[in-house]
Formats: sequence, structure tokens, C-alpha cells
Amino acid sequence: MKENNCIFCKIANGEIPSATVYEDEDFRVILDLSPASKGHALILPKEHYANLFELDDELAAKVLPVAKEVVSKMKEILHCDGYNLVQNNGEVAGQTVHHFHLHLIPRYEGDDVGIQWKPGTLSEEVKEEILSKLR
Ligand code: AMP
Ligand code: ZN
Repeated sequence: MKENNCIFCKIANGEIPSATVYEDEDFRVILDLSPASKGHALILPKEHYANLFELDDELAAKVLPVAKEVVSKMKEILHCDGYNLVQNNGEVAGQTVHHFHLHLIPRYEGDDVGIQWKPGTLSEEVKEEILSKLR
């Protein structure tokens, strides 16, 4: 399914031109228009899924192999020093385009890409709460 007013549906299906670095029957991988670093790319499924919770399981299983292929190739040409894979779900998590996408962000020694959080401490109480609810 495609969604009418979704820009990533239009890009993924070639209705809007994009800087495509990889394409197969399920995905298009494009360069991000506002990159966090040189070579920042996005994996877009051609079908519309708003986020990870909606993503089809069969398609989900294909995302990481595509990521591995693309970052391996990009690392060769960019000579970057590392990579972050980032995937936001929900506005509170920073999602601005509600069509599933996986960010592939090359990292360079000394860059100022700010993917960080303040480490907390896992308390016994919270650990027990979570583990008991999962049982
Ligand atoms: P997120 O905040 O995880 O939803 O990421 C959305 C990403 O899409 C951002 O990094 C934007 O820079 C990028 N973006 C938005 N519109 C376009 C577009 N037309 N072409 C390429 N990248 C886009
Ligand atoms: Zn879409």
C-alpha cells in the first residue's frame, strides 16, 4: 500500500526524484537532504508502513541485509571511521516523517554528530518491574 500524501512513498517509488544510492524491488536508499554527516542515507521501503510497529515482518527481515550492503559499499567510498544506524518511532523519539525509514549515518573521527544520551543507572526495582511484566 502507498499513502497519498506521503513524501517517502513518492520518493521510494520514483515519483519524486532523489539521490538514490541503492534500489531493489522492496527498498530505495537515498541520500538525506539534511545530512548529519557526509553520506547520511535513508533506507525507505517502497510500501507504506508508518513505523517499526507497523512494518511487515518479512520486510523487516530484509532491512538489515540491505543496511549491511549499503554501509559496506559507502564505507569504501567515503573512508568514514564508523557508522550509526538510527531508527526513530513517534514524534517524542524524533520521528518527523511517518513512513518507516532507517538512518545510515557515517561517522568520522572528530565529527560533531550528536547521537548521545546521559547514562542512567538500572535500579533493582525497575529491572524487576520490567522482567516480571514480561513473564
Ligand atoms: P526522522 O526525523 O527520523 O523522521 O527523519 C526524517 C529524515 O528525512 C530527516 O533526516 C530529513 O532530513 C529527511 N528528509 C525529509 N525530507 C526529505 C527529502 N525530501 N529527501 C531526503 N531526505 C529527506
Ligand atoms: Zn509512505
